[in-house]
Amino acid sequence: MKTIREVSNLKDKKVLLRVDFNVPVSAKGEIEEPFRIEKQKETLNWLLGQGAKVILVSHITSVETFANLIPQLHMLLGKEINFIKSVSEIAIYLDHYAGPALLENIRQNEGEEKNDSEFAKQLATGFDIYINNAFAVCHRNHASLVAITGILPSYAGFLVEQEVAALSDVLKSPKEGKLIIIGGAKTSTKVPVIKNFLDKSDAILLGGVVANDVLKEKGQDMGSSVVDENSKELLSGIDLNDPRLIAPKDFVVFDNKILDIGEQTMKDYLDLIAKAKMIIWNGPMGLFENPVFAKGTNEVAQAISSSSSRSIIGGGDTISALDKAGLLNKFGFISTGGGAMLEFLAGNKLPGLEALS
Ligand code: ADP
Ligand code: MG
Repeated sequence: MKTIREVSNLKDKKVLLRVDFNVPVSAKGEIEEPFRIEKQKETLNWLLGQGAKVILVSHITSVETFANLIPQLHMLLGKEINFIKSVSEIAIYLDHYAGPALLENIRQNEGEEKNDSEFAKQLATGFDIYINNAFAVCHRNHASLVAITGILPSYAGFLVEQEVAALSDVLKSPKEGKLIIIGGAKTSTKVPVIKNFLDKSDAILLGGVVANDVLKEKGQDMGSSVVDENSKELLSGIDLNDPRLIAPKDFVVFDNKILDIGEQTMKDYLDLIAKAKMIIWNGPMGLFENPVFAKGTNEVAQAISSSSSRSIIGGGDTISALDKAGLLNKFGFISTGGGAMLEFLAGNKLPGLEALS
């Protein structure tokens, strides 16, 4: 993978910088979790410092348009960001370049999700180089990540470089002392990681709906707890009786629903966390949005942050939980990638990364 450090002279180079600004936005129009945006500062500032002319490109799914978010981006990035309404206006902007600008939601263009090469050509018009700094979307085969690399000289930005280094380290590091913690709700996205690490780690601790699914398949009565309808198919191929796969023993129950891990489970998990050398965590232990059911998640977070292990943490909701608890900068490495991190850790190839090598 070539990185931006390998570009010999960036002065006045016109740079298409693919970022991931796909953040949650509240009904009032406020950005709720700015972590991914702040993580772009390093690469953006470095490029601007070298004299490059930078256009940022991203998608967003929580709202249709970036137009109303520009003032917040200005605050978060600490600099004025202009707005370009459509792909056809990029070339004109580059000719009269007046500081960094963000292009409108790239997914408004039909060719983006089809990885259309004609669209990628349009998008590339006027640029000298392409930089992918959008790790969180590298598992997508889209034009602004893949087809574009066939047109422009392409490099990885600092964030992509750091993510790949941290997650490769997880795959390469020894089995002994490695602890995986998996919670949250999207069981289908987490199963491949469980499969990949069950015999490559000391233990996998479960929480959230993922744990509910496992317990259901082990025959436990789950009451009205949230479970996946197709949990049987989802979990097929995993030996649910493997002693390294550890499900909660006791729970916080409300309204006949399991909503958090219980006290004994928390103690057991904290003991294992204290002994681990490397901890990989994705997915909250319970319904943390309600403070009554956030204890399991917060205690696990505290324990990881005060342990001497190397920690690698990811998942949009997991990051929100850490942010709420004021712990966000207390960890070894926090990945901006939810799905992308899980795919990487499952051992899959990511199209956006493959395209850079
Ligand atoms: P991440 O974004 O960190 O990967 P997910 O998106 O997979 O995590 O899951 C996060 C969601 O899971 C949160 O909204 C949380 O409330 C929910 N959740 C966790 N445990 C439970 C539970 N026991 N019952 C219902 N929802 C849960
Ligand atoms: Mg999530």
